[in-house]
Amino acid sequence: MTLVPDARDWVRAGTDLLLGGLVRLNDADLHQPCALPGWTRRQLLAHVASNAEALRRLLTWASTGVETPMYASPAERNAAIQSGATRADLRHWVATSAVELADSAAAMSVEAWSAEVVTAQGRVVPAEETWWMRAREVCVHAVDLDVGTTFADLPGGFLAALLDDIAAWRSSRPGPAVLLTTPDTHHEITGDGTPVKVDLPLATAAAWLSGRHREVGLPTLPSWL
Ligand code: ZN
Repeated sequence: MTLVPDARDWVRAGTDLLLGGLVRLNDADLHQPCALPGWTRRQLLAHVASNAEALRRLLTWASTGVETPMYASPAERNAAIQSGATRADLRHWVATSAVELADSAAAMSVEAWSAEVVTAQGRVVPAEETWWMRAREVCVHAVDLDVGTTFADLPGGFLAALLDDIAAWRSSRPGPAVLLTTPDTHHEITGDGTPVKVDLPLATAAAWLSGRHREVGLPTLPSWL
């Protein structure tokens, strides 16, 4: 997968933005809502930390051949967020889980990266896909943390890859048909009705397509992930 070297950089960039945002928040701020409707910042951070642990399980699976899924069940995934959100060492957990994931990645053999694993969404992917999965988590949730980071702060290559990802995801689900154009990208999203032409700057397009930007005149989209 040609994305891997870039995705590795985006994991680092997104992690830096997330942890950089976290140090600007005091403990009271962490109890406040984040930009993700219905979520507090503590819940968001617990989700990011438990995602690192879940992706590590996929790397273990790829390395050993012993099936270790990201989460035993959706209920367990949610329980990990709820209990993790109350942890006294939440800040530390977010940072150390990211380091441990990076350490596990560094210890992978070349062959293990192409071993197949199954994501929480049920997709069969080579282990190297975890780079993109993690990049998406840390970059988008760095914005969701709502401490000043915006999509315009994310790498342009990441934003274009995010549009590819979400456009494909939306094309296989109910929603409006859209022709989405930015100065750098063009996506045809299949869906209901005559395609609506949407022309936006790259960062705004990524924010809109991921359900994080609303603007009069833009079609309403079903929520993404
Ligand atoms: Zn997430």
